[in-house]
Amino acid sequence: NIEKILEYRIMPYGDKHLLLVARDVTRVTQLEEMRKDFVANVSHELRTPLTVLNGYLEMFNADMTAYPPAFMGKAFTEMTAQTRRMQSLIEQLLILSRIEASAERVYEKIVDVPTLLSAIKIEARTLNQEKQHKIEFTVDSGLRVFGIETELRSAFSNLIFNAIHYTPANGVIQVGWRLDKKRAEFFVQDNGEGIAERHLSRLTERFYRVDKARSRKTGGSGLGLAIVKHVLTHHNSKLEIDSEVGQGSRFSFHFSPELTVVDSHASNQN
Ligand code: ADP
Repeated sequence: NIEKILEYRIMPYGDKHLLLVARDVTRVTQLEEMRKDFVANVSHELRTPLTVLNGYLEMFNADMTAYPPAFMGKAFTEMTAQTRRMQSLIEQLLILSRIEASAERVYEKIVDVPTLLSAIKIEARTLNQEKQHKIEFTVDSGLRVFGIETELRSAFSNLIFNAIHYTPANGVIQVGWRLDKKRAEFFVQDNGEGIAERHLSRLTERFYRVDKARSRKTGGSGLGLAIVKHVLTHHNSKLEIDSEVGQGSRFSFHFSPELTVVDSHASNQN
């Protein structure tokens, strides 16, 4: 649709000619559509839990004594889950906007990734209590990178927590931090549900989920991989995804040799 992609004006040019001035606005139009989609998605994601909360509150407001304790217990569990969902969505949105606005430069600081991963390992253990996965960390203790610590923490933890969420109980998850041809590599491999090929190219879009209904139950915001993608773009890197339905997934990324810092006493620790 030429009218949609071009802004144009036609002006007289001398006595016999017309002058056409056209500007390609494809990119502007695309950005505007993305912004509208984003606002619509955020509103929808917030409205759904609010509708549930509001429903219960109206019921209780009418007559708090009308419901048996078992029902009340279920209602409060559901209300807590919906409140958490909104909290997690707002937190992720804040992280995303902070990353977008950040003027911090990647080359300014060295990030001690092994220390960062030990902190995330402790959080992962808490999260894993219900699922009881076997989680193995194989970390090269002498490997660090130039980067932005808060951003890298978000990227590592989003990928690790996703593996925990999307792997059925008693799964096996491997987290690795190692040197691969002069480049630091981070990977998370799980033997969970896997992802069909057709979804792979869209996974890092904001709010894209393979199974919307099921993902909502896990409490995710749909923004995790969008955050990872942003962080990696900042660090001149890209998310690599290998996955097979029913077999599991491997999410990984590399840092360029310029960002990779290798300690001379590097050793492996589990
Ligand atoms: P969410 O908050 O829904 O987890 P993400 O952006 O982190 O959002 O992930 C997007 C979607 O990618 C998820 O909803 C899920 O369908 C899929 N996904 C992410 N990680 C995995 C994984 N390790 N195994 C299977 N599917 C995954």
